[in-house]
Amino acid sequence: MNREQMIHHIRKTMVEQMDLLKESVETAVGKMKAADDRPADYFDLAALESSKAVELKCRTKEWQMLLQAKETIMRIDLGLHGFCDSCGRPISRKRLRAAPASKLCLACQQDQENRAIRQQRRLAAGSRMVWQHA
Ligand SMILES: [Zn+2]
Repeated sequence: MNREQMIHHIRKTMVEQMDLLKESVETAVGKMKAADDRPADYFDLAALESSKAVELKCRTKEWQMLLQAKETIMRIDLGLHGFCDSCGRPISRKRLRAAPASKLCLACQQDQENRAIRQQRRLAAGSRMVWQHA
């Protein structure tokens, strides 16, 4: 499979993923509407609210995946997908096979993660200093 075929394959996979996610969201919304009947007592109400919270957390994850698939399709259609957003170099086929929605090459991804870790450490050190001087 050459690079162009791979990008075409990724697009097809993302469209299929979007269809599945949309179906799942519609089913969940239907279930939540059906479960909206008046609960018998406070315990039923608490159980209903708890299950709704879990359901919403799952839907949020699905929504993020849906947005990612849609963004990937748009990037493919614009001819941007497969190139690193940071350095502009082609993202390796190995990386695209492992993570089809990648927007960064491996080196830039690692660089970004290392920067985030350093920033978290600086913030943690800063908050420790504030506590020591308080
Ligand atoms: Zn890069």
